[in-house]
Amino acid sequence: METENTADILECCKCHVTLESRRTDFVYLNYNFHVDVPRCPKCGQVYLPKALVEGKMADVEMLLEEK
Ligand SMILES: [Zn+2]
Repeated sequence: METENTADILECCKCHVTLESRRTDFVYLNYNFHVDVPRCPKCGQVYLPKALVEGKMADVEMLLEEK
């Protein structure tokens, strides 16, 4: 795990409330994985860090190749 400073998007641009980190499940290539995603507690808008999701998908693809 990298410990980068990810204090970028921590406020909803509409509601101006602090985003909550919420565990969200994904299914990709029949694999389940979960990512902690910043989510607005007020309007429910989820901010998906694209790089994070793509990184997870790359992990899954590596798992598949190992089989
Ligand atoms: Zn909001």
